[in-house]
Amino acid sequence: MRQPLVAGNWKMNGSLDSINTLLEGIKAGLGEVKTAEVAVCPPFVYIPQVVQMLSDTAVSVGSQDVSDEESGAFTGEVAGTMLRDVGCTYAIVGHSERRSIYGESDEFTARKFAAARRFGLTPILCVGELLEEREAGTTEAVVGRQLDAVIELEGIAALGEAVIAYEPVWAIGTGRTASPEQAQEVHAFIRNKLAGLDAGVADKVRILYGGSVKAANAAELFAMADIDGGLIGGASLQAGEFLGICTAPD
Ligand code: 13P
Repeated sequence: MRQPLVAGNWKMNGSLDSINTLLEGIKAGLGEVKTAEVAVCPPFVYIPQVVQMLSDTAVSVGSQDVSDEESGAFTGEVAGTMLRDVGCTYAIVGHSERRSIYGESDEFTARKFAAARRFGLTPILCVGELLEEREAGTTEAVVGRQLDAVIELEGIAALGEAVIAYEPVWAIGTGRTASPEQAQEVHAFIRNKLAGLDAGVADKVRILYGGSVKAANAAELFAMADIDGGLIGGASLQAGEFLGICTAPD
C-alpha cells in the first residue's frame, strides 16, 4: 500500500516570526495525524530553521526548487548537495509557477529532477495542464509530454523513487478545485501510462493532487483510488487547515 503524503508548499510566504507560529501550531496537532506522511517546503532561506524546529518530529522538509547543476558559477542557484546538507529530503521540481513565470521547459525540469536524485533528494515532479489546454482536450497530451521528458532522461525506474504531483494550473490558487472525478481521471491516466512501461513503478509511485485543496475537500479527493495525498499551497500556511488535510486520510 502507498502511504499518503501531504506536503505543504509555502511558496514565497512567511517570516521568521510567522514560520515559528505556524510550526508551533502544526507540531501541537501532529499527534492526531495517523496515516499520512507530512512534509513542508519552505522558502530556501528558512529551511535550516524549519529542519531544526521539526527535528523532534517525523515531518520531512523539502525545497521548492533545485538547481540542475552541482556547484560553480551559477549566481542565485541552490544546489541539491546544499539542500541535502541542511536536512532536506524532498525537492519540488517543475512547479507550474516555475514553468509558466520563469519559462522552465520540460527538458530543464527533467535535468532538475535528475540533479535532485543525484544528490540524494526525492523529487516531487509537478505536472499539469493550463485551462486552455484542458478546454482544447489536450490534458493527457500535455501531462504525457511532461512525464516523457523525465522518462527519456532518467528512465522509468527513476519515477518509482520519486513523487508525482498532478496540479491542474487552473485549480492553483483559484479556489477552483478539480472535482475528485476530474482529478482521478488524470491520476489514472498517469498511473496507466507508467504501468505500460513498468507495472511495479506504477504501483509504487505516489501521485499527489494539488490545486485549492482545503480541509473541507481533502477527504473526498484522497478517497479516490489513484490519489495518494496532496501538494498544498495556501491552506498549508494555516496550521488548523493544514492539519485538517493531514488527518483527511485517517
Ligand atoms: P493552492 O493550494 O494555493 O491552490 O496551491 C497549490 C499548489 O500550487 C501547490 O504546489
